[in-house]
Amino acid sequence: MNEITFCPRCGTKLIEQEKFGELRQVCPDANCGFIHFLDPKVVAVVLVEHQGQLLLGRRAIDPGRGLWSFSGGYVNRGERVEAAALREVKEETNLDIELGDLLGVYSEEENPVILIVYRGRARTIENLRPQDNEVMELAFFSPAEIPALAFPFDENIVAAWLKAREKDGV
Ligand SMILES: [Zn+2]
Repeated sequence: MNEITFCPRCGTKLIEQEKFGELRQVCPDANCGFIHFLDPKVVAVVLVEHQGQLLLGRRAIDPGRGLWSFSGGYVNRGERVEAAALREVKEETNLDIELGDLLGVYSEEENPVILIVYRGRARTIENLRPQDNEVMELAFFSPAEIPALAFPFDENIVAAWLKAREKDGV
């Protein structure tokens, strides 16, 4: 995954070696010493609510084509996570939302993706429409109607959302 063949610093062919507790690609040139560190990927996710219902988008692409999921996407390097969350919702739904509480952080062994999940609220949904090719349809669902979701963490995230709603006292 994300493997490179040659040293980006000096061009020597990289070898695999244990460094800092893991097998990593390293440059065998002693004067260079480059180590290829694979960083995690941070994804900002928002569970957008309107009048007690949850906004979901039906995915137009794989993985999870035809299934439903939340708005979200990769956080850019140097970008605030909250700003990325708002940007992704705007890009996917055209909605300007208010970002709410942090719902949770989700990660697992061997998975480079870290999800940072917020609640969000849309005051108005007049402007709601799919904005990019990744989403074919957008709809609001009451808790009892939530359809089949696309990704492994999605069920846990919905469960956290339902629990948070209970605390709201609705
Ligand atoms: Zn090198």
